[in-house]
Formats: sequence, structure tokens, C-alpha cells
Amino acid sequence: MSTPVVAEAYVSVRGAGKTYMSPRGPVSALADIDLDIAPGEFVSVVGPSGCGKSTLMKCVAGLEAVSSGEIRVGSAPIDGPPQGLGVVFQRDVLLDWRSVLDNVLLSIEFLGLKRADYHDRALALLDRFGLGGFEHRYPWELSGGMRQRASICRALLADPDLLLMDEPFGALDAMTRDDLNIELARIWQETRKTLLFITHSIAEAVFLSDRVVMMGRAPGRIIDIVAIDLPRPRSLAIRESAEFAAYVKRIRHHFAELGIVKE
Ligand code: ADP
Ligand code: MG
Repeated sequence: MSTPVVAEAYVSVRGAGKTYMSPRGPVSALADIDLDIAPGEFVSVVGPSGCGKSTLMKCVAGLEAVSSGEIRVGSAPIDGPPQGLGVVFQRDVLLDWRSVLDNVLLSIEFLGLKRADYHDRALALLDRFGLGGFEHRYPWELSGGMRQRASICRALLADPDLLLMDEPFGALDAMTRDDLNIELARIWQETRKTLLFITHSIAEAVFLSDRVVMMGRAPGRIIDIVAIDLPRPRSLAIRESAEFAAYVKRIRHHFAELGIVKE
């Protein structure tokens, strides 16, 4: 069965599979993934630990090659990290010996662009993310939430079309996570970047997304894709609405039916 190609897709994953070769034999991490993401769409992937979420993200980021199928970003098949890509990982990967500003400017250096051209934009982004005045501090002087904010600034600095985030708020306390959910929703609303966001929080996925991709384990495959038809902009209060609760319940129930979570 083939899924029709959506003409306007910005990210297109077709029959993608990934098998890792490990010393204990092959590990099938992804099988038969079909997914289209429209330009400017916010798509979350939610699923249990080990179901292949990070593998999918690394394949879209061009950091791992698929073993079968094809991934396209823009109109080109992936062959190494594509142009116009920003990535945020769960661990913030800031360099301890560089200031916050120099960490944010790192993305520009990697792209071979001129630091001076991005200096003011870096400061504006830091300010926007509540880090104004911290530009000359070092990562070890910051809280976990501040470090993750700096990582987001770094990913946004070169104004990428596609932002990939792999459980970026997974290590944060609940209140900081709420704040960052709101900030991310706001910046996405303003800039309309295409966003692929990985989480294992169903509520976070529903709150942020246009569509939630449910993944199951062994091997990683898509179980279902749920469109989230909640009005935008969304405030945290929407989490108390019956509509929000119904989405969370529906997704949780579906995972429970498959024995992936307990109900
Ligand atoms: P998730 O992000 O959903 O927790 P991952 O994509 O990290 O899942 O992993 C999916 C599966 O692939 C797991 O079984 C994991 O052990 C395996 N895996 C991930 N990376 C590698 C690797 N580099 N070599 C071998 N196996 C791997
Ligand atoms: Mg992962």
C-alpha cells in the first residue's frame, strides 16, 4: 500500500526503516514509517522509551542514514544534515568553556557565517527567552531551564525553516516546562517554522501540536496520527478544557489498548 505524496509537504518520510548493527546483532529501530509534515506545521511524536523517536529525528536531521525508504526535506532527499535546520536535544550540549552568547553563536560558526552579522540577533533572542543580561555568563552558572532556553536560541539563530526538538523539556521541573511550552508555542505562532517535536508527554504533545504522531515499539512504527483541532493561540488554561482532556484520554486509551501504557 502506498501513501499518496502530499505535494506541499516540507518533510516527507516514505517507507523509512532503520536497522542498527550492534555487537549483539541487528536492532530494528524503525519500520515502514510514512509521514508528511506541511510547511509551518507543528507535529509531535509521542511514544514509549525505545520506540525509535530519537532515531526518527536523527534520520530527518541527516545524522543517521535510513536503511530503507526515503526522507526528503524541502524537495531534496536527505544526504547529511540539510540546510536550514535547527536541532535541540534533551541534554543541552552547551560548551562549558564558552559564554552563553558564544554558545548561541556556535551555530553560525558551524555554518561558516560571520558572527558579527548575527551578534545583535543573538542578543535579541536571548532577551526574548528571558536571558537578557546573561550573555556573558557561562553555562555552569545557569539553571537547567536557562540552559535549555540558550539551546533554543542557538537553534533559532540562523532562522532555520525546520526545527527538530528531541524531548527538549524532559529534564525540567514542571513549572519551567510549562513556561517553555508557552514560549515555544508563541515563537512558533510568530515564525511558523516547520516543527518536529519529540516528547513522551501526551499532554505536552496535545498542547503544542497540530498533529500528534503515536509511535509503538519493536520495531518503531506509527500507530496513529491524531489531528488536534484546538483553537490557537493556546494558553495553559486550555489544559483544563473538556476538549483537551478528551484528546489526552483518546491517545492514552489507544496506547493502553495496545498494552503500551496502563490505564
Ligand atoms: P527513543 O528515542 O524512542 O527512546 P531510540 O530511537 O533512542 O528510541 O532507540 C530505538 C531503538 O534503537 C532502541 O532499541 C535502542 O536501543 C536502539 N538504538 C538506538 N541507537 C542505537 C545505536 N546507535 N546502536 C544500536 N542500537 C541503537
Ligand atoms: Mg529518545
